[in-house]
Amino acid sequence: MKTREIVVTLIALLAIGATSFFAYRYEQRRDMAGMCPFCDRMVHPVTAYRLKVNGHEVAACCPRCGMHAQMNQERGKPEAAWATDVNTGESVAAESATYVEGGDVQYCAHGDQAVAREPHGVSVREYDRCLPTLAAFKTPQEAETYQQQHGGRVLNYTQALASVQEQ
Ligand SMILES: [Zn+2]
Repeated sequence: MKTREIVVTLIALLAIGATSFFAYRYEQRRDMAGMCPFCDRMVHPVTAYRLKVNGHEVAACCPRCGMHAQMNQERGKPEAAWATDVNTGESVAAESATYVEGGDVQYCAHGDQAVAREPHGVSVREYDRCLPTLAAFKTPQEAETYQQQHGGRVLNYTQALASVQEQ
């Protein structure tokens, strides 16, 4: 083989190696982070809302998305639900968590643009099952602190479910 051919072969092999390495890494990250089965968004570890359905757990991207699934029994009737405390990442029984709705942090819709609609030219968002944002907290005090910083309203579990049902 001529030197040039050897070099070309080596470069090709390196390219194949690099491609499969990054593809593998990507798959691994996808697995670790997980995708929400209800809306196909990435599940952020700090906002995950887990449901136990038919004996196994599914993780929704956020409390609002998970509560929609819960009420509409999108994967069957949930036996239990857990929210994640935004501050600590700790798992909390959904019924005992406190929620802040509509704060200025959008965990799920990050990067989405408002959609302009003709003819009025008014920018409105399309329906989004994750909005308005529901953030979960272990204690009402933490929820209130968050609300003071980010706005929105503090809701208990029953109020949060009722709100999700409305919109
Ligand atoms: Zn989701």
